[in-house]
Amino acid sequence: ATMPPLLSAIANAGRHGVLVKSAVVMERLGQIDAVALDKTGTLTEGTPKVTDVCPLPASGLTEDELLRLAAAAEHPSEHPLARAVVDAARGRDLQIPPVEDFNSTPGTGVTARVDGKTVAVGSPARLLDGHDDHPAAALAERLESEGRTAVLVIVDGAPVGALGIADRLRDEATATVASLAALSGTAPILLTGDNPRAAARLADEVGIADVRAGLLPQDKVAAVRELTTAGRKVLVVGDGVNDAPALAAAHTGIAMGRAGSDLALETADAVVVRDELATIPTVVALSRRARRLVV
Ligand code: ADP
Ligand code: MG
Repeated sequence: ATMPPLLSAIANAGRHGVLVKSAVVMERLGQIDAVALDKTGTLTEGTPKVTDVCPLPASGLTEDELLRLAAAAEHPSEHPLARAVVDAARGRDLQIPPVEDFNSTPGTGVTARVDGKTVAVGSPARLLDGHDDHPAAALAERLESEGRTAVLVIVDGAPVGALGIADRLRDEATATVASLAALSGTAPILLTGDNPRAAARLADEVGIADVRAGLLPQDKVAAVRELTTAGRKVLVVGDGVNDAPALAAAHTGIAMGRAGSDLALETADAVVVRDELATIPTVVALSRRARRLVV
């Protein structure tokens, strides 16, 4: 027997390294007329590296001591930034101590007990909320103006330093954004929890004009709902735990598989297993072709 067009499109998508979870999803992919993309791990490779280790002078900590505390708190986290911090500590042969009471807040950061102290690592904007006059705020701003993602380290309530982290844009990001713009007929938007300075720099490089930065997971959902209310069928592409609610709210949600969190992979309608961003417009085009055969 010949396979129905949507099923053979699923098989074809599979050959391109994209797992499409059902025939319904295969059909819906071709309907999208708006695109919202996450930044870290989606447009970027998702293997960020620590570039700067900056203890505040008043903390009395050395670079290694700052990095060791941060790595301990980040160790249980599956966030790409957490992996960068742990790798940097291992790269300096630091012993990462065990932690207790680990907690993570998507879009914000982590906290844990290390050496009997409470260590928080995360977004300067969120953790310094209302304390913009602290020297840590100026330090974070300097790192961010250099295009870094700054993560603040706080010990027992006192900021002790910051880390600068940088991730490479995927080679195929700019071409994929252009293809998705052409296929959807609308300009893609960038939804990110990262800081506005780093977000604007990357958006500029990749050709996205509409940038929403500093977003919490529920803010990403609100952006998707706003488009949906305006009558759009939104494709959301993301990788993180922080993207899962937006992937669920989307007309179609696609997760990046390699560095993607389990929650994003489970929530998404389709998964880019082979980690090639450029397969997304390919699969949208496959859906359009199959739908023409079905109708
Ligand atoms: P994106 O939307 O770009 O994928 P996230 O929402 O995952 O980013 O994270 C947004 C911000 O929250 C990060 O830039 C960082 O400041 C902070 N953050 C989230 N998780 C962590 C973590 N595990 N360690 C440090 N910072 C974190
Ligand atoms: Mg992400």
